[in-house]
Amino acid sequence: MTRDPRFDILFEPVKIGPVTARNRFYQVPHCNGMGRAYPSSVAQMRRIKAEGGWAVICTEEADLHPTGESSPHNEGRIWDDADIPALARLTDGVHEFGSLAGIELAYPGMAAANLYSREIPMGPSHLPVDSDTPVQARAIDKADIKQMRKWHVDAALRAQKAGFDVVYVYAGHQLSILMHFLSRQRNTRTDEYGGSLENRARLLREVLQDTREAVGDSCAVALRFAVDECNGINGIACDAEGRDLVEMLAELPDLWDVNVSDWDNDSQTSRFSEEGFQDSYTAFVKSVTTKPVVGVGRYTSPDKMVSLIKGGHLDFIGAARPSIADPFLPVKIEQGRIEDIRECIGCNICVSGDLQQVPMRCTQNPTMGEEWRRGWHPERIAPKTADESVLIIGAGPAGLEAARALGQRGYDVTLADRGGQVGGRLTRERLLPGLHAWGRVVDHRQYQISQMANVNVYLDSDMDADGVREFGADHVVIATGATWCNSGVGRSIRTSVPVAGDMPVLTPDDIMAGVQPPKGRVVIYDDDHYYMGGVMAEKLRGDGYDVTLVTPAPIVSQWTTKTLEQGRIQARMIDLGVEIVALHTLAKIDGDLTVLNCVYSGAERRVSCGSVLMVTMRRPKEALYLGLADQNMPSLTRIGDALAPGTIAAAVWSGHRYARELGETLPDPVAFKRELPALSSQF
Ligand code: ADP
Ligand code: SF4
Repeated sequence: MTRDPRFDILFEPVKIGPVTARNRFYQVPHCNGMGRAYPSSVAQMRRIKAEGGWAVICTEEADLHPTGESSPHNEGRIWDDADIPALARLTDGVHEFGSLAGIELAYPGMAAANLYSREIPMGPSHLPVDSDTPVQARAIDKADIKQMRKWHVDAALRAQKAGFDVVYVYAGHQLSILMHFLSRQRNTRTDEYGGSLENRARLLREVLQDTREAVGDSCAVALRFAVDECNGINGIACDAEGRDLVEMLAELPDLWDVNVSDWDNDSQTSRFSEEGFQDSYTAFVKSVTTKPVVGVGRYTSPDKMVSLIKGGHLDFIGAARPSIADPFLPVKIEQGRIEDIRECIGCNICVSGDLQQVPMRCTQNPTMGEEWRRGWHPERIAPKTADESVLIIGAGPAGLEAARALGQRGYDVTLADRGGQVGGRLTRERLLPGLHAWGRVVDHRQYQISQMANVNVYLDSDMDADGVREFGADHVVIATGATWCNSGVGRSIRTSVPVAGDMPVLTPDDIMAGVQPPKGRVVIYDDDHYYMGGVMAEKLRGDGYDVTLVTPAPIVSQWTTKTLEQGRIQARMIDLGVEIVALHTLAKIDGDLTVLNCVYSGAERRVSCGSVLMVTMRRPKEALYLGLADQNMPSLTRIGDALAPGTIAAAVWSGHRYARELGETLPDPVAFKRELPALSSQF
């Protein structure tokens, strides 16, 4: 296949100062949970993106000095020459495919508590650090500023030695002292570094100039700047000081990498934003600088990308998440394979990996984070090891991915589902408020399977043990999913909630199946803490019910702090008029009352309602598996929620893993390569 000429513009080379990017696809800096802790993993992940056609590949923020370090998070590190070999592995991999490597030098200032180095953080003024850690940053003095500028220069020179082509000056996400200096709220100095915007921008200007002098004739100098902090008149805003700043420094960097801040504004999920959600903030930048501009906004549509370039909005299509979901997005556009693009669903499971300090994972791309340690490539997979057939029962995320990947390996695959369409849990969840884009998990796989002659899908096929045995496949995979329980058992309560009377006790499965709770208030008991409790509240409010959301956690949908959504979810609950009862468990259901207990004092609270909706746990649908296991099926495996209910990302990964490992011999007992700490020779 060849590329559609209307996308030619995306493949034009673009100069960035002294270097040239081979096309307009730009992987902006993004965290990944690997960083300094798993350097081989991160290097291979970036290398594969270069192979996939991204012309510029950047690191995550790389801490440049022990006095500003992001521990416990696994970010990059460039403290001294000892860090060069790990970084050089990354740049070598990126250069193998003719791409440019960029490094985001970072000095987090009061955004970090320096838990590892125990150095006192520095900021523009005396202020507590941003986290709740009992650490206070001290106001940086003039001598410190001189030193800090030198550390930045030293790091830039080191980056050059490590082979980077683009060196960043970072003033974004509230994660950089350079941004903190710009902030009127953080910077209350009375010297030449405080007061007017010119003064508050002095340090940023100096660091930019220093970096240019140090490396600017061979490396490009990029400035990452959040043009809007999205916090109203007191912050940087794109129609006020954000714009003034870009005008002030317009020609100083070789490239403007612009976005909004904080990270939860920059990486908004599809539940709360559409593709291109940052466009209105960053649109002005190109009109005030002649330098190339890169911006982000979960861009996955090639037509949208073309319109951004032609409309004079951007020079580069920036991407973090779309490049994670599909490292080969540019190559697929180039080869005219638009239908093959695995579009990001905007769920931020990737972010959750970073925030939990483990290698990032992705709902759409099960190979993410596994490129080095398991040798998984997002596009290639080993051919089958034998002419064998596989019967998969259940066409949810796990079964679909297993079928797709086994099909790619050349196995003879049958995918059966009792439902009338593929998708499993997502056939219904994608219809819930805000979850529409999640359907891409199904659509991508359904299309891929439809192109494979060796994969057959049988819908409306309710399989039982006899049917499975009669089918006679060499391998049987059970991907039958899970159902929500209505007992109330979950994380906080390990035995069923007593029920006296006939109050209907429902589950999300009931609501998704169209069951209408009786008139009156619905009490949602959320001991699951991910998205479902909040989404159910939103749906039921939309259907006109009064809703009380009870949770043992202090906040609604607590785990969504890891997907950067919690604040928005809580705000939406408040806007919708959902009554929130935090820090309470459900003790019993009695007539038309729910009796709640405070998790600390045990104090009782009663809420009268017409029904209760339990969002606590799911139980695997395992009857078919257990029946077959009793009959000693030779090759029988459970995957996804049928094995243990989890995220959609976990189900996809589970299906993918099955497909990868069928017929292969794996190292034992650890099935993947580890990155072991090197024993130092220094005592
Ligand atoms: P996962 O997230 O693990 O992929 P899902 O719950 O999304 O699991 O999907 C499970 C699918 O399995 C559903 O579409 C369901 O209809 C199907 N299924 C469950 N039991 C059977 C069965 N006995 N025969 C055929 N299909 C089944
Ligand atoms: Fe996109 Fe979700 Fe993958 Fe992140 S985890 S890249 S948001 S699909």
